[in-house]
Amino acid sequence: MRTLQTTLAWVAEGTELCRKAVADLDEASYNEPSLLPGWTRKHVVAHVAANARALRNLMHWARTGEPTPMYTSPEQRLADIESGATLPAGWLTAWFEQSAQLLAYAMAELTEEQWRAEVLTAQGRTVPAGEVPWMRTREVMVHAVDLGTGVQFADLPEQFRAELRQDILAKRGSDTVPAIQGADADITAYLAGRPYTGVANRDGSPAEPLTPWL
Ligand code: ZN
Repeated sequence: MRTLQTTLAWVAEGTELCRKAVADLDEASYNEPSLLPGWTRKHVVAHVAANARALRNLMHWARTGEPTPMYTSPEQRLADIESGATLPAGWLTAWFEQSAQLLAYAMAELTEEQWRAEVLTAQGRTVPAGEVPWMRTREVMVHAVDLGTGVQFADLPEQFRAELRQDILAKRGSDTVPAIQGADADITAYLAGRPYTGVANRDGSPAEPLTPWL
């Protein structure tokens, strides 16, 4: 079972993975495709930065009781990613750093009671604010892999991968996912709809790829 303490530590760990992944990217390599269809690395980083800003809105909501949704609209969310992806490399990295830092401050501010306050996710789910560090963990961990600079699912904490598989199965609906076999890191990549190796159906035939998740 994940606790707030665990997920807050994972946020820091995943943020560090993203930080290292972008640290050595020059303009050209930043503009190369990520592992996500249609997205460059810049798109991924712009999305991760905009996500931090969006989740900070939920922290504000929990702290003050004033409803502040993650995004103004789905269109705005996409427009911000597109415009963010046109920023020069140095600016984008600075935005990533600043947004992550501001989110960390906002998280450090909440009292125990405020962590229990209810907020609304972009998908329209009502969750306790204590779920936000888990939401952020998923973003920074999985997108660190998506950046395609060498981080693999096998590099992510084992307990995180287990929680992620559970989360994805619940969201996808376990009856829509075929019974598969493979190493747990490979199965995690498969369930996330990411490039994978070593995953097969129980009868040994190749598993049908899933659509990207998150
Ligand atoms: Zn995402």
